Amino acid sequence: MRIHAIQTGTVAIKSKQVSGQGSGPLRLINVMLDRTWTERLPIYAWVIEHPEGVIVVDTGETAHAVEAGYFPRWHPYYKSVREWVRPEEEIGPQLRALGITPDDVRWVVMTHLHTDHAGGLHHFPKAQILLSRAEYQAARGFTGQVRGYLPQHWPDWFAPELLDFAPQQFGPFPNSYTLTKAGDVHIVATPGHTVGHCSVVVQDDMHTFFFAGDTSYNERLMLEQVVDGVTTNSTVYQETARQILTYVQSTPTVYLPSHDPEALQRLETRKPAISVKAE
Ligand SMILES: [Zn+2]
Repeated sequence: MRIHAIQTGTVAIKSKQVSGQGSGPLRLINVMLDRTWTERLPIYAWVIEHPEGVIVVDTGETAHAVEAGYFPRWHPYYKSVREWVRPEEEIGPQLRALGITPDDVRWVVMTHLHTDHAGGLHHFPKAQILLSRAEYQAARGFTGQVRGYLPQHWPDWFAPELLDFAPQQFGPFPNSYTLTKAGDVHIVATPGHTVGHCSVVVQDDMHTFFFAGDTSYNERLMLEQVVDGVTTNSTVYQETARQILTYVQSTPTVYLPSHDPEALQRLETRKPAISVKAE
């Protein structure tokens, strides 16, 4: 299976978004008061050339994000995010450069609906788009905008297939959905960063890949079980982090968060989060 990382520009956020501080609503206030920025972090989307069809995990950001008025001025959070995206960095042109027509993509799986993951949705009018029902419901309408989503920028035709995640154990994850007939691609519910966040686990003959979205901003934070600053529920976040750690401890796994500067190198070298020694 060929797997590609597509970097759709960069983003800088506050340090206390990466590693949260305080309890309850104070965490988000601390993010907004923080004067320390991260370096420019990559915004990755992922492409999996699966025998049953091309799978895209997240769509990255749109170049419109750098235009005045893209982020609603009335929302206080957006003073805490800066993005850099050029039109040729959007996922559509980069897919074509790989020889893949966006219309030929079979599935687009959304880890969640924050704009740096959903900004490229307009490139996929013909794909089957899957995401969790909880995420879709949280992101819709004006309350979605208050929560930090931008539903006003979704394509008119956007009508995703909504996953309810009936109980189906996958390793330590109680709720999962098997995407492929081969049973080698699983969508697992990983709530915490957002209420309906999910991740994608791909297994080929040799390796397991965990497309983690924003379950953590990099691998170290997952290994150290650090909770981010924008979570809607720290307890849920910690439970998901614990499940991911349990999984990578038992299965050598290439862990690929969307904003980890070292993710691309780990993908290329197939470097697992934890090397599990043979007995
Ligand atoms: Zn996010």
